[in-house]
Amino acid sequence: MTKVVAVIEGDDAAPEAMTPSVALLQDLNLDVEWTYPPVGNAGIHGSTFPDTARDMIDAADATYFGSTSGSASRALMYLRWGKKTYANVRPARYFPNANTPLRNPDGIDLVIVRENLEDIYLGCEGDLSALPDELFSRHARVPVNTLGDGRYAVKGITRQGTEQVVRFAFDLARTRSERLDRPGKLTCTSKYNILPQTDGYFREVATDIAPDYPDVQFETLIADDFLCRLTMNPTQFDVVVMPNLYGDLFSDGAAGLVGGLGLAPSGCYGTDYAYFESAHGTAPDIAGLNIINPTATLLSGAMMLEYLGYTDEGATLSQAIANVYREGVVLTPDQGGTASTSEFVQAVGDKLL
Ligand code: ATP
Repeated sequence: MTKVVAVIEGDDAAPEAMTPSVALLQDLNLDVEWTYPPVGNAGIHGSTFPDTARDMIDAADATYFGSTSGSASRALMYLRWGKKTYANVRPARYFPNANTPLRNPDGIDLVIVRENLEDIYLGCEGDLSALPDELFSRHARVPVNTLGDGRYAVKGITRQGTEQVVRFAFDLARTRSERLDRPGKLTCTSKYNILPQTDGYFREVATDIAPDYPDVQFETLIADDFLCRLTMNPTQFDVVVMPNLYGDLFSDGAAGLVGGLGLAPSGCYGTDYAYFESAHGTAPDIAGLNIINPTATLLSGAMMLEYLGYTDEGATLSQAIANVYREGVVLTPDQGGTASTSEFVQAVGDKLL
């Protein structure tokens, strides 16, 4: 059956990576129809997210999203909270010749699964003075509304939200174990020592679920300890699940280990929808120069192919990208090369012929 992909090209330098990446995916001649919801500047009647755009996203099987600096923000909020895409999957895999700061990067191949809807990202902030007297600081030992002028943000962790993302992460560890022919491993990390009610709850729910996956090795680490281990010995990790904020931060850190944001793809999965975008922003400082590294966008495309049922094609695309890095001839400036975005995508396309 024909799959439908909605394409939103994004802002600043993002379209320079998206346009050739979509063209490359189209050249694979798969049974995929590509639609372009009129969001952002393409919006109609002055709206950046008209109903038509929402309907086109709903009618698609997935959305391929270029980073936005604002024009497609409403569409992005819809893709995330409207479509309840609760698991943000951010792989960090080292391709030989990528611009890593590490001496021994070989074999880094891990995936951060970031809870995508809760935690401090609920968007619930306000004045401390508005909080009730009963809200007592355990550490300062005073009601928080007496601390003085200031603000608060709500960090909310639910059982259902945690359970679904942790199960997703366990399932991913299983799939990777089969594919990579090695035992699966899941690490759960949070600040459960300092925040026992929220991060501790995340860990508790994960630990409760672990016996359902006896074939996957399970461990829990305090977030700061995890970060130190990630930096010193990243190959020890396979799949790592964590609350939203840590996932946002640590996945960029993991990207830095394997060559930077230009290589960091992501996929956001819900029960019946997913969207795919690079983990980086719109790179406004290099917009118009045709030098944005499209690797993250292409790898996100490979994840999307897998989601759509084109598992072999997704793997072949990832391998083609790895081969371009292995040769080390056609690399973009962020990787120490002189190739343009178009030349890099062309080199990947040539490997697929
Ligand atoms: P956001 O807040 O949306 O994440 P940002 O401006 O903080 O956006 P990015 O847009 O990711 O962050 O850019 C951070 C830096 O990394 C910029 O100097 C940018 O040029 C560079 N950068 C990001 N992505 C790429 C890429 N794909 N290729 C080359 N450089 C990139």
